Amino acid sequence: VKRRGRNDFEFFRNEMRVHVTTLLQLERDLRHAVERDELEVFYQPQMDLRRGGLAAVEALLRWHHPERGLVLPGDFIPLAEESRLIVPIGEWVLRTACRQLAAWRAGQWPELRLAVNLSPVQFQQAELIEVVRSALDDSGLDPEVLELEVTEGLLMDNRDLTLQALADLKAMGIRLSIDDFGTGYSSLVYLKRFPVGQLKIDRSFVRDLLEDRGDAAICETIIALAGHLDLEVVAEGVEQVEQLDWLREAGCDRAQGYLLGRPMSVDALERRLSGDAGL
Ligand code: C2E
Ligand code: CA
Ligand code: CA
Ligand code: CA
Repeated sequence: VKRRGRNDFEFFRNEMRVHVTTLLQLERDLRHAVERDELEVFYQPQMDLRRGGLAAVEALLRWHHPERGLVLPGDFIPLAEESRLIVPIGEWVLRTACRQLAAWRAGQWPELRLAVNLSPVQFQQAELIEVVRSALDDSGLDPEVLELEVTEGLLMDNRDLTLQALADLKAMGIRLSIDDFGTGYSSLVYLKRFPVGQLKIDRSFVRDLLEDRGDAAICETIIALAGHLDLEVVAEGVEQVEQLDWLREAGCDRAQGYLLGRPMSVDALERRLSGDAGL
């Protein structure tokens, strides 16, 4: 192997500089995204596996960047969390999605529920509960129709603000959902200790459940656990009809995935799901 030491280092340093510049630029752009109206909430349908039909939608953020085009959350949520921009952005998502849900419930989908993702950073804001309450008040929604998705890591966070916020959400009647369940570090004790109402089986277990006995066993176990603890269970990442059949047979309550619909704009969702076609 030929050693190029210094040159490699120079190369690396230049690469790093480009990377950091891009991130800083992106953060600057993100700072203005809300006021410039570049953010949009997409909605992905969740199917009720027992009764059929549309049970809920999950709000998923999209950024229409003036030069880069559509930027997915994986590319800017970490940056938004680091810079705490996720606080105003998360509030905007919640308010926008609540208003949209109220319109849908008043119209074609009176039973529809709404899932919104919350970042752990938002739990470090004393105002979180007031923001949630005000989003519900402004939209006139009943707290029971709102599901807030958090990851297992949050339940390991013993800070007072987090514990208080979780208790307050519960007291308001909001359903807490554990996203990507099975991929984090949480111990099962947390399911008992916290006011959890729903588990979302992570996509990584659903993907190969028909071929991989281990993944199938994990899905079965989570569904059984949810049953025993009286929690609702949602499978995410459902892409094949055979997966859907398997999950229904196994007693899963809801399914979400490209098979049933990708995250869509308001118009696209209404076009796809209204009329007789349904889910
Ligand atoms: P998540 O909460 O686990 O959301 C599900 C992700 O899986 C979404 O990616 C969705 O488009 C994708 N997905 C759904 N069905 C399928 C499928 O059948 N196959 C595959 N391969 N993927 C599927 P998306 O929209 O890119 O969001 C990525 C993550 O960004 C979300 O993961 C969530 O953690 C975060 N995120 C999105 N919107 C928000 C938000 O408003 N606030 C916060 N804090 N985080 C958000
Ligand atoms: Ca989620
Ligand atoms: Ca998830
Ligand atoms: Ca995920």
